[in-house]
Amino acid sequence: MRITKVQAIADVAFRGGSIFFGSGAPVADLAVLVKDGRIGAVVPEAELASHLGSQTKVVELDGALLMPGFQDSHIHPAGGGTELLQCNLSEAENAGEAIAAIATYAAANPDVAWIQGGGWSMDHYEGGAPLAAHIDAVVSDRPVSLASRDHHSMWANSAAFRAAGVDANTQDPSDGRIERLADGTPAGTLHEGAMALVQKNAPAASLDLLVAGLSRAQDELIAQGITGWQDALVGAGSGIPDPKDAYYRLIAQGNLKVRVRGAQWWRRDQGLEQIDAMIEARAEAEALGLPERFNLGTVKIMVDGIAENFTASMIDSYRDKCGHSTHNNGLSFISAEDLAIYVTALDAAGFQCHFHALGDRAVRDALDALEAARKANGPSSLRHHLAHLQVVSAVDAARFAQLDAVANLQPLWACHEDQLDRLTLPFMPESAQDRQYPFGDLVNHGAMLAAGSDWPVSSADPLAGSHMAVNRVAPQGDGKPLGGEKQRLDLATILAAYTSGTAYVNHRDETTGSIAPGYFADFAVVSPNPFDVPAEEIFRSRVISTWIDGTCVYAAADVPISSK
Ligand SMILES: [Zn+2]
Repeated sequence: MRITKVQAIADVAFRGGSIFFGSGAPVADLAVLVKDGRIGAVVPEAELASHLGSQTKVVELDGALLMPGFQDSHIHPAGGGTELLQCNLSEAENAGEAIAAIATYAAANPDVAWIQGGGWSMDHYEGGAPLAAHIDAVVSDRPVSLASRDHHSMWANSAAFRAAGVDANTQDPSDGRIERLADGTPAGTLHEGAMALVQKNAPAASLDLLVAGLSRAQDELIAQGITGWQDALVGAGSGIPDPKDAYYRLIAQGNLKVRVRGAQWWRRDQGLEQIDAMIEARAEAEALGLPERFNLGTVKIMVDGIAENFTASMIDSYRDKCGHSTHNNGLSFISAEDLAIYVTALDAAGFQCHFHALGDRAVRDALDALEAARKANGPSSLRHHLAHLQVVSAVDAARFAQLDAVANLQPLWACHEDQLDRLTLPFMPESAQDRQYPFGDLVNHGAMLAAGSDWPVSSADPLAGSHMAVNRVAPQGDGKPLGGEKQRLDLATILAAYTSGTAYVNHRDETTGSIAPGYFADFAVVSPNPFDVPAEEIFRSRVISTWIDGTCVYAAADVPISSK
């Protein structure tokens, strides 16, 4: 905590609550003063009067918590927002509601030649895999292809398979799998790289739709107190339209309000030759001259898939339905040797690497690649990070701190729920059962933490994520904490991950993520103060206002911002 004596008159002053500075315990009886969009000073409330002028807006916190705006360390806003505008299944709570939503969308949009969208949940379907016949019953006249909530699987109808020429004779690609009926016919679900077999035939979302989606996402995220993020997928070649152009459009319109660091997509159908184009894209973003708003200095590398469809890369093999060991260790999308070569080259070119690493073998491959880069290039200040971290080998938890690798957590996944308990844990190797999302182990080994949602895969609400990191039991659930008590984080630790930790990953820790003089006045106001409620009630706290550059960009309709 820094307290600076200044005599300046504030534009905005916050008083009457507690301040979370970006780490540590919150402090009461202080006022935060804003001048010209920046934090001017933090002063004892008793001294506030000398900083108030006739123009000062005084925000009465009424016991709420004032904290730095949340930053999401791994999110897909353009895709998430676009899905909300297409056939959106994310509200469906069972298979029947999903089918009803598809039928409703089809009836309301007779001119959409190929219906796209997503948000269906694997745990609503036998084996996590819905059938083409389910959609055929309501839409058979045109193709339908819908991404799963986690975007690692796709559900399509028979018309889509016909349009794409995918049938019983189509081979599985090396990085994916087609679910099949007994006779080999595609059953309706495609996993990972197999999604492209159908999706490459679907019309791409127009730039106008993508811009509208990104803009919608920005509004939704700001309403959850989020003032910055790392976009985990910018660039061409991933099978979805490039969000980069949508950001540029928003910037040109003066409508990009949040602070974004974009991770350029590493194409697995190319090698080192793609780095030149990435350097160019980074320079193009720098040329905008808005480093506090947009930057493309990161590269996103998918090391493996996900556990639910057995594509997470594991050291020990998966088990079958009867609990017997199989020969399947999941998929490494890039060999360990190639990964080390790519990461060494990216590190030398000054790129931060953002790894998707879910299984323990993927985590190890990524850490090995960082170690190789370190040996070749020496230490860097690039703040490479590994996202998802579902299973981490005990010896590897200690390597994060040694290698300056940040653990990028998606806390909302760390609890017993249907998808984990029915579709994942029974098939995981015996050795991985107690090592799901080992946040406590990572902290105890000194790992730096960042936190994010992977929205639209799961809710972007950072307070819901914080609740889960602290409890490891879903709100109002009564089960055991996933992985036991030792994997729980305290509230200050997870809020630090969502603020100063992600600011560090985004290379914006000298201007954002903390409440300190000179920092941008980006805040979330949270009520009730989550530090004042029992741990199992944290999920009831919500963001009542969001501020960027000292301006209120969101206020809950039912909570007027009181000021005098
Ligand atoms: Zn993601």
